[in-house]
Amino acid sequence: MNPFYNPVFLSKILKSYFFDINRLKRLNYQQLQIYRDKQIRKIINYAFTVPLYKDKYKKAGIQPSQINGVKDLHKLPLISKFDIESYYPDGIISAKANKDKLIKITTSGTTGKKLSIFSDPCDVILWFFIYIRVIREYGINWRKNKLTIIGDFAPHTIGSGYVKQGFLKNLTGDTFFKNIQWLDTNSEPKDVIKEVDKFQPDFVGGYPGMLGHLALLKEKGYGRNINPQYIATIGSVLDSSLKKFIQETFSATVFEVYGATETGTMAFQCSKGNYHIMSDIVHMEVENNGDIVSYGKAGKLIVTKLYGYGTPIIRYDAINDIVALKQGKCNCGMAGSLLEKVYGRDDLSLLFKDGKVMLASSFAEIFSRVLYELKTNKIKNTHIIQHSLKNLEIQLVIDDNDKNDKISVSDIFSIIKEGFQKKVGSDIEINIKQVEKIDRTGPRIVSAVDRNSFVVKQYI
Ligand SMILES: [Zn+2]
Repeated sequence: MNPFYNPVFLSKILKSYFFDINRLKRLNYQQLQIYRDKQIRKIINYAFTVPLYKDKYKKAGIQPSQINGVKDLHKLPLISKFDIESYYPDGIISAKANKDKLIKITTSGTTGKKLSIFSDPCDVILWFFIYIRVIREYGINWRKNKLTIIGDFAPHTIGSGYVKQGFLKNLTGDTFFKNIQWLDTNSEPKDVIKEVDKFQPDFVGGYPGMLGHLALLKEKGYGRNINPQYIATIGSVLDSSLKKFIQETFSATVFEVYGATETGTMAFQCSKGNYHIMSDIVHMEVENNGDIVSYGKAGKLIVTKLYGYGTPIIRYDAINDIVALKQGKCNCGMAGSLLEKVYGRDDLSLLFKDGKVMLASSFAEIFSRVLYELKTNKIKNTHIIQHSLKNLEIQLVIDDNDKNDKISVSDIFSIIKEGFQKKVGSDIEINIKQVEKIDRTGPRIVSAVDRNSFVVKQYI
């Protein structure tokens, strides 16, 4: 049965619609703090019904009564990828949960290691409502304006889990969602631009890579009817030059939305340019070399999800993003904390001498120059292999079929080599190779450098 006909579920949704979307606007900082503490107590009580958390907390000598709010979270041990894996599947959900109602979500596995958790039906609705919260800040109305969402609908992902298998499947294609176009980022950019051109959206949300390709096609004369007012990027770090290119090509305002499979949307840039944390649905901490660090210092994200009855996410140490928090408030009227910067995925990083760590955001910066400077989308796939601290191999799959594209392989090689050399120094040996094929199921970045003995000094 379509759960939208179930009155209990519907009333939950309506309550969420009226209370969740505007919470950061409605509550002041003090009220938000009270709300957050209440949510923490709820999820901790719930976590004690989940074998993984129950065992971990018992071992650490923690009772639910000791955790009264955000200020007590530090008493709890961190939860690693390994913890989730070893208790999967039955140990990561509540003994009270109805397993058939949960939706299995698998993280994207950019390093080749996938991780599955369970999400509950209300998470799905909240995921969509938080999207509404974001676009509402830009004056976009999801019932009046047209929205194109280019998500990752590969079979195992959050997008697919929610839109295709989850409850939204009952609504997609329905008149309820007639203003929303769902497209798959794994499709060919030329096919995607045709669909977007027909739909003529006011808003486009997608991954930086796909949006960059669309901008290049638009510049070459495709998609003449695509004139959105706003474009939001999700999924990976957007470098400032690529942002400028997309912004200028579409004459649209571009902003970033930050999220992860396990938590949904965690933060977004408001119209004042500040990165707001969705403090009513997540709590963020930053860890560097074993310590929790304060504002302005970069480190690994430790996240706690303040809602949901699937797998609890509490002091979760498996997202592997490098971020920094920002002190202060924004004057746009939204309560909650701020993020200073999202640096990118740590498990997609390369390590160099003197404690230098090169993150995914730097790769994006280098590779996007191929798009907006050389104006070519010939690169179809990349694979980076670090053989040692001093030797890097970059493999590229290049599509040479477009006869109108006069950019040569050596032009592409030299812009990439120059980009890497500028970041890591001229003493590092960089070999770029053209290959026929790359196994997309394997990790995109492989490094022979030992991470365990490495001390992080600087992110480049
Ligand atoms: Zn703001």
